[in-house]
Amino acid sequence: MSTHTQHLVDWVESILEGDLSWQGDALCAQTDPDAFFPEVGDDTYLAKCVCRNCPVREECLDFALEHNETIGIWGGKSAKERYWMKRKAKEIG
Ligand code: SF4
Repeated sequence: MSTHTQHLVDWVESILEGDLSWQGDALCAQTDPDAFFPEVGDDTYLAKCVCRNCPVREECLDFALEHNETIGIWGGKSAKERYWMKRKAKEIG
């Protein structure tokens, strides 16, 4: 099983565990989902533009942070940006 496939399996399992009603309003569901799971070096500008206008951006970002999502754009933030957000939060306490 590839890393990407394993991630999707993990993601589906996490969906089954919590309240994900906010995903019904996700703008990315109306676009190309691959844009939100870019390969290394791919441009993320368009995905982030969609996120900026998404009504559930905050819920999406909270979900990604809580579930330690390490792949993809969530709440308008890349995996690297989420990593630094969590690291900064730990430093602040
Ligand atoms: S914030 Fe972005 S990734 Fe999250 S649900 Fe909205 S469009 Fe999708």
